[in-house]
Amino acid sequence: MLTRFEHCPFIFTMSCYLLHFSKPYTGKRRNPNAKRVQIVSHYLGYARRDPYERIAEHQSGRGARLTQVAVQNGIELIPAQIWMSGTRKDERKLKNRKNAAQLCPFCQDAIRNEHKK
Ligand SMILES: [Zn+2]
Repeated sequence: MLTRFEHCPFIFTMSCYLLHFSKPYTGKRRNPNAKRVQIVSHYLGYARRDPYERIAEHQSGRGARLTQVAVQNGIELIPAQIWMSGTRKDERKLKNRKNAAQLCPFCQDAIRNEHKK
């Protein structure tokens, strides 16, 4: 079972992590025939060791292509979740859910607050 850890500076093990975008990134259409524009508001990744080191790489625009363009578009990458001992398989499983917002405490809080209104 995956355990959630937050803001622990001493993590040196493989893990999966979720980055929440401060605003959604609207991907430019690569293919003019594409039916819709891609909207991305999370990035789910896997780190072989310290996830914070990897997250810092993303935040400075040296991570994945997607996080790089997000940073270039003024989007802040906020660490939302870290799953300790997460493997590549876990990363795949989490990605296959295709609903990162459900895994994201920031988005869940926003949904809860919406219901309170
Ligand atoms: Zn979120």
